[in-house]
Amino acid sequence: MSAIDLIEPATGERLASIPKATAEDVDRAARAAERAFASVPCLSINTRDRARQLVLVIANQLRQAEEHPPAETRNVGKPIRDSRDEVGLAANVFEYYAGATNKVGGQTIPGAAPGVLMTFREPVGVCGIIVPWNFPIAITAWKTAPALAMGNTVVLKPAEQTPLTALRLAELALEAGVPEGVFTVVTGSGSVVGEALIRHPAVRKVSFTGSTEVGARVMQVAANDIKRVSLELGGKSANIIFAHSDFERAVASAPSSSLGNAGQDCCARSRVLVERSLYERFAPALVAAFEKVTVGNPLDDATEMGPLVTAAHCARVRSYIDAGKSEGATLATGGRGDGCFLYPTVFLDAKPEMRIMREEIFGPVVAVMPFDDEADAIRLANDSEYGLSGSIWTRDIGCALRVARAMQTGNLSINSGSSVHLEAPFGGVKRSGIGRELGMTALDHYTEWKTVYIDVR
Ligand code: NAD
Repeated sequence: MSAIDLIEPATGERLASIPKATAEDVDRAARAAERAFASVPCLSINTRDRARQLVLVIANQLRQAEEHPPAETRNVGKPIRDSRDEVGLAANVFEYYAGATNKVGGQTIPGAAPGVLMTFREPVGVCGIIVPWNFPIAITAWKTAPALAMGNTVVLKPAEQTPLTALRLAELALEAGVPEGVFTVVTGSGSVVGEALIRHPAVRKVSFTGSTEVGARVMQVAANDIKRVSLELGGKSANIIFAHSDFERAVASAPSSSLGNAGQDCCARSRVLVERSLYERFAPALVAAFEKVTVGNPLDDATEMGPLVTAAHCARVRSYIDAGKSEGATLATGGRGDGCFLYPTVFLDAKPEMRIMREEIFGPVVAVMPFDDEADAIRLANDSEYGLSGSIWTRDIGCALRVARAMQTGNLSINSGSSVHLEAPFGGVKRSGIGRELGMTALDHYTEWKTVYIDVR
């Protein structure tokens, strides 16, 4: 089997080599998952006790193995404290869904027919899961945990750039007694391994997180066999700051809500909309806050922002900085850096038609522009093909609720930069995706309803 070399973004040096799998490898993994689904009795009948045990074994492997955070940091470039948080979140997600195993079931329904009408909630079967490089272990958990908790088996394809934590987790799970075929990781390219997984006849459900362009392709390939598909895709979220907001808190939150994971975050608030009467005061405060962010070695505990994931991705982000300059926005800070590093970048006086306002940059770059009033803020925020996340800063509860209801987005925070709560649905509208992950809602993706009628006459 040929190999893919992984480059550590902070140093530019080779970090590891991983197998470049083929369609035949995908077939072996999917067949093993199919056998495991059929042979682990608890996975296919109505008790989920065994599923609960398996999910908890994986949660333990995440909690106990200290190797995951440094591996994630060296592979993705994210600060070590963020990697610790992400591994902790992944463990929490497995534990949350372990708790769901015996709480989700069917119903008895008061139908008109003379008998008992009831439903069962059954696993779908083999789930093909495809994840991106920005939050490798967290997104692995978001999909794998509810799938396994509901009694399915999983074949996971990590991003070719960042497979290390998922690979190691699957290995540890196997060593800890999770049967072969229950949770398998296959590494390789999207066009070969990803598509083979979607096309495989044993795979009944495809769960994808990644770019909108590839999401559209995933949907097309899955359409041939009418496979169930859920998609978490790109974003271009707005951070709306009203004149009557808590100024200090709005400024303090702006760096983390736009620069977390070096802006390689589908929920990054990359459009900052500021009420015109506050604009002249807010803009320099935002620039100053961005300039205070500590950029450096991601293994250092003090680092707040590390390098971008790869040289190729960094070049793509730099091309947006060039676009912002040539389209006439004012580069107020950043726009430079060595290797895969890029300093936090602020463009002021952006216009809605500029590419930096319309396209997902997926880097530490924000575009700031003023708005006139509440209606203008809503119009600008919704002027996007995406609808994933966003924030509203205001002290006026009426304004907060009016804007929240009017915004075309799947997630929204008021006076906060957060997006993800593992107990609540997460996902997007418009070109940001289909379906919701996390919370109990995610279990819909991984269960089928079966209706059974008993004629009692
Ligand atoms: P990507 O779409 O390039 O790749 C995502 C995954 O799909 C990778 O594993 C890749 O190998 C695979 N893939 C590529 N081509 C494929 C194909 N033809 N068939 C099947 N699989 C294929 O995305 P990326 O660059 O890894 O991640 C960045 C993107 O992910 C951004 O757009 C970001 O917004 C999005 N994202 C969304 C969410 C969300 O929850 N909405 C979360 C994180 C990232």
